[in-house]
Amino acid sequence: MSDLNIPDLRNKGDVCWFASYGRSQERETCPVCFGKLAVTIILGDDSAVETKCEYCSEGFGPPRGTVQTWKSGPTVERITIAGRAIEDNDGHVEVTYKFNMSGSDCCRSYRTARPDDLFDSETEAQAEANRRASEATREEFEMSLRRKHTGQTDRTYSWGVGYHRNEAKDHRRQAEYHEQACRVCKDRAKKAKGGKA
Ligand SMILES: [Zn+2]
Repeated sequence: MSDLNIPDLRNKGDVCWFASYGRSQERETCPVCFGKLAVTIILGDDSAVETKCEYCSEGFGPPRGTVQTWKSGPTVERITIAGRAIEDNDGHVEVTYKFNMSGSDCCRSYRTARPDDLFDSETEAQAEANRRASEATREEFEMSLRRKHTGQTDRTYSWGVGYHRNEAKDHRRQAEYHEQACRVCKDRAKKAKGGKA
């Protein structure tokens, strides 16, 4: 391998920035109990009952105070190269870097990156991650149009706009309904508190 001339090869221990776009699972504070693990329900006679939060309970397990959500978007991580592999397929050289999963020092939980995923600065990595995100969004949008309207290429874009407008309207309507439902509960809770004091 030593006779292969690869420019800008990174070494074990090098610190750099990893740019990616994708869906990732994250845990965030439960939007119902706000991490308190319990919620208070106001009954019809305005008496308050505390009960465990069902929203952040997984299966029959106890509430966790956090929920798992899917996030998609550009991500940039500061990583340390843990190793590399160089493969030479008849002159076509491929370099793969290994790095630890974030927050893990365990040598068995490696992730891999290609040279064009790695950057010297956070700014460069962020620009690349953003570029991949907008490309992926455009591709997903075009693919959804093709799926829905195969063969009607001249109509797909306007159809797409209508579809998204409709969806947005529908989601706004739903958002209003859910906001309203929460507001009603809050008002009731306030009244119940005021009544007892
Ligand atoms: Zn909860």
